[in-house]
Amino acid sequence: MKLCRFDDNRLGVVEGESLRDITAALDLLPSYRYPFPRCDLLISNLDLIRSFTPESPAIPLSSVKLLSPVANPTKIIAAPVNYQKHIEEVKDDVQLHQNNPAHTITIHRAGLFLKASSSLVGPGEGIALRHLDRRNDHEVELALVIGKTANNVKASEALQYVAGYAIGLDITIRGSEDRSFRKSPDSYTVLGPWLVTADEIPDPGHLDLRILVNGEERQNSNTKYMILDVPKLIELASSFYTLYPGDIISTGTPEGVSPIVPGDTIVATIEKIGSMEVKVRAA
Ligand code: MN
Repeated sequence: MKLCRFDDNRLGVVEGESLRDITAALDLLPSYRYPFPRCDLLISNLDLIRSFTPESPAIPLSSVKLLSPVANPTKIIAAPVNYQKHIEEVKDDVQLHQNNPAHTITIHRAGLFLKASSSLVGPGEGIALRHLDRRNDHEVELALVIGKTANNVKASEALQYVAGYAIGLDITIRGSEDRSFRKSPDSYTVLGPWLVTADEIPDPGHLDLRILVNGEERQNSNTKYMILDVPKLIELASSFYTLYPGDIISTGTPEGVSPIVPGDTIVATIEKIGSMEVKVRAA
């Protein structure tokens, strides 16, 4: 199933080039009083949503504004330096590494980092760049969404904890500060165009991914080149933090990162997920 959020917090099931509105399925979700559970309620109740039968007419996808398929992750975890060719391009370019030694070691030593959950938007909301005097870059990444609470999960069992997959954009201001600071402005995490449930992608380790900026290809690789694959990333992340339904892990970017500026149009594509267009503007 391909599940999307659109327009004014509506819920849809994607079928080809259109969607069916299943916003009424949200009435199936349990309601809570303070303190609210630490998870995304939609993702933690995906089985209820899946049981809902859409009866509404098809709406063309081109006529809606796509939001992030996850509204309220407790955290966004991201993998730095997880493709060898990306590490090599960073090593060779002072504009990328900024003389920061943390940028040229592999993920085994670098570990993971967190992005502010307030940075999350959907493709229809666009990217609002800040600090335009500095270089802002795109990074296309396979993103996974955790489906059930995970703590100290072994890689061999990790895929059971995945609700689904989406395209992630990890937008970055280049500079010397911590990644969490430079990659967390509002709109610097784009998730979309929808959530593809894990049953449709049994092997996340062989997916083509690419990104075009103004029609020109900048990144084109395959998730088979990840240094730590999806199961190992879940094992590593869950050895440090409890993962809750709706938590996002962005799995790192391949080579080809490049600057973006206001006015640009990005098209990101991942095999078995789809494509999303994202407009870039000044904040
Ligand atoms: Mn990244």
